[in-house]
Parts: sequence; C-alpha cells; structure tokens
Amino acid sequence: MSACPNTATATAVHTPLPVLGRDVTVPLVTGGEVTYAALDYAASAPALQRVWDDVAAYAPYYGSVHRGAGYLSQLSTDLFENSRTTVAEFLDCRDDDQVVFTRSTTDSLNLLASVLPSGCQVFVFETEHHASLLPWAGTGGRDARVTYLSAPRTPQEAVTILERALADRDPYGPALVCVTGASNVTGELWPVKELAAAAHAHGARIVLDAAQLAPHHPVSVRELDVDWVAFSGHKLYAPFGSGVLAGRADWLRSADPYLAGGGASRTVARRPDGGVEVEWHTTAARHEAGSPNVIGVYSIAAACKALTEAGFDSLVAREQSLVAAVRAGLAEVPQVRVLSLFGDDAPRVGVISFVVEGWNSSHFAAALSAEYGIGVRDGLFCAHPLVRTLLGSDPQDPGECGAPDAAPGEKSLNAIRVSFGAGTPDEHIERFLNAVRELVTQGARWTYRTEDGRCVPDTTG
Ligand code: PLP
Repeated sequence: MSACPNTATATAVHTPLPVLGRDVTVPLVTGGEVTYAALDYAASAPALQRVWDDVAAYAPYYGSVHRGAGYLSQLSTDLFENSRTTVAEFLDCRDDDQVVFTRSTTDSLNLLASVLPSGCQVFVFETEHHASLLPWAGTGGRDARVTYLSAPRTPQEAVTILERALADRDPYGPALVCVTGASNVTGELWPVKELAAAAHAHGARIVLDAAQLAPHHPVSVRELDVDWVAFSGHKLYAPFGSGVLAGRADWLRSADPYLAGGGASRTVARRPDGGVEVEWHTTAARHEAGSPNVIGVYSIAAACKALTEAGFDSLVAREQSLVAAVRAGLAEVPQVRVLSLFGDDAPRVGVISFVVEGWNSSHFAAALSAEYGIGVRDGLFCAHPLVRTLLGSDPQDPGECGAPDAAPGEKSLNAIRVSFGAGTPDEHIERFLNAVRELVTQGARWTYRTEDGRCVPDTTG
C-alpha cells in the first residue's frame, strides 16, 4: 500500500523549522509561566517564520491584483499568478491541471461539489472529516447521489469496499470518489494510489483531501494519479485564509462559476432585451470571483517553497521519530488507549488521538493546558462517525467535567488529540509525555468546572 512516496531512507533534519510563537510564554494555573507547547497542528499549524518573513517583505509592495495599471498592481498580479506555478510544482501537478485558490479545504471541496456533472454519483467513506463528508449531498452537488462507504479496518479493505461499491454503480454516469490522504483523527495514511486506481478502473474520478497530508508528506498528483487535490494554507504553516483546489480543468471549466462577479467574467454586455450576456473565464479565474486574497495565496506559495527547500523528506523523517516517541511513550501508560482504524503497523503522520481510562477527555485536555502549558484538542474533531466508531460510543452529552466519562470498563464519549509537525521541538513532546504520566498517576493538581460545555480551571474559589 503506498499513500505517498517512500521516505523511509531520508536523512532526518535534527532541529525544528523556526515558527512564530516559539518563544511565547503562557501562565500556568498553578503559578509561573512556561513556553507554550502548540500540539494542535492538525487544527491550525503555527506560521513558519520563513512564511511570515516573505509576507512581511512583500507587504509594502502589496497592490490590487488583476485590475491595476500601476507598478505595484502588476507586481502583485505577477506574484499571485506565479504562486499558482509554485503550488502546481509543489503538488507535482500535470501540465494541464488548474490551480484554483480558495479559502480552505472546506471551500475547495464545496467548489468541487458545485461543479459536479449532473447525475454524478459520489462515493465517500463515512470516516471522512465533515469537510469531505458533507458537501456532496443536496447542497453544492445538487442532484448528486452519495454512497457512504463503511469504515474499513485495513487499507486493503478500503480498496475492496470501494471496488465493490463502484462495481454496482451506473457505469455510464459520472462518478467521483472523495478520500482523505491522512486522517485528522488517527493520522493514518490511506491507500490513495490504490483507491485512485480502483476509481479509474471503474470510470470514476477521485479527489484527495490533503488537508492533513500536505503539511506532513510530499504529495504528487501525478504519482498518486488523483484527479484533484485540496488543502488549506493554515494547516501548511501559512495562516492567511487561503486554500487550494488543484487538478483536472474540464469539470471546472464546464460548470457555472462558484461565485458570480468580477474577475470570473471575461466580458459582460447588455442584451437588446435588457438582460446581460456574460462570457465567463475558462481558466482558474472562473471560480475566483471578487478581489483575491493575494497575501493568503502568496503565503501558501512561500510555505511550499520553504518546505521544499528545507528538504521535505528529511522533515518527514524527523516527524516520524516524534511519532515513534509519542506512540512509545503513550504505550507505557496502561490507562491510555490510542485510537486506530488500521492497527499499530499502519503508517501515519504526527496526528494521534487517544482516551485515558477514568478521565473525561475535556478535563484531561484542560489540565494539559492549565498545568503544563500544552495546547491539544479534545472532542470528536469534525469526524463524528469515525470517532464514534473508534470509541464504540453513542452520540450523547459528553458529561460533566471532573466526572470521568470513562470509568474503568466504560466507553469514552470524546477523545484527546495531540498533533505536531515541522516546527515541533523535542521538548514539547517530552513535556507532553511527562504530563500524561503525571496526570494519570497523580491526578490533576487543580479543580475544574464545566463552562459552556467545556472544562475550565475553577478560579472562583
Ligand atoms: N479535511 C481534513 C482531513 C481536515 O482535518 C480538515 C480540518 O481539520 C478539513 C478537511 C477542513 O479544513 P478547513 O477547516 O481548513 O477547511
């Protein structure tokens, strides 16, 4: 099974890439301050210093894109358009692929849903992030018929489930498979190349949700043979509100613009009957109406360059050593159960979810923050069906903080997720593992209460 180019032989970078906020200190509820340990990269990664520096260097030259006659407008337009080329190179796109700039992965997948040909059948695993799970039915996809595929327990089973579903489909209509490259819950890599081959063998197309893959692994559209790929800047160290949808131009070109307005239209003329006649662009601009987010787009290009120039393969190798350290450290704590769909041997990125016996996950996450200065996430991570499958729990209220939702032998209702990447120093991982051990063996040193459904330190006493 190969989700990505093999990086096992890469040489490790031994130091993290500089990111913003690396020296920020936060107060502890128990007194004193510590440097903040950002271990919630899967939600939003800190900006790479290099991205920030590139944006700051460009900022004085910022100008209107595609419209102005002035020098700075032309410079900004060049920068904006060159960013497409940089992103296309980063993703190893085919020559005739289009790179459309969006707001995020969610936006990219909704854009794709809005251009589906009529009668399209969509196949999506129920384990997907809601951004990949939800856009297809009714909303953007209009008359799309969606088949939700059950959770596979091995990568091979994912291929088998998809093949079986595709074999039953109407062989003449258009079809799309949507799959994530790396799970935002388990970090596990999906067999993208094999799923793409299965999709194509049955005349379907495939879109790769690379929101969690692109920040952690090189993605080659050509090698994986996917039709589209979507990702977000803010998870790729470029938090300025832009995303990408890259891939086949034909469906994008044939559909109505995602947003109607200036920039998407080539010409607009009055018709004799009083209406207007619009000729829409056939390039990526067709789906980029309105003034574009040039800083966001430039920052994504800067991140692509920074990761490439740092040696992405060696970043992967370093991250893999952190993954191994976290998994080994958690395995030593018998009360911790790491969530996994594909089992211990599955290749994965730096995204690990777990539950702690006897602890409410929100309580545990709050204690990591308040007592150790560590930022993780708790909940269902916008992948409710997957997390509930992994926990074996039913949808319910997560319970009162402090009252463990997972007494020995009971099922947890929420999970804790730790995630990291190119900017994570070893110390953050060591502090996290030490905190887990201390909380499990000694308990929290502070009391917590529920406020607006979340656990917070009780500072009222
Ligand atoms: N897909 C996956 C796998 C994700 O993890 C996320 C966000 O967490 C998304 C899609 C949506 O990304 P965004 O919120 O940037 O649109």
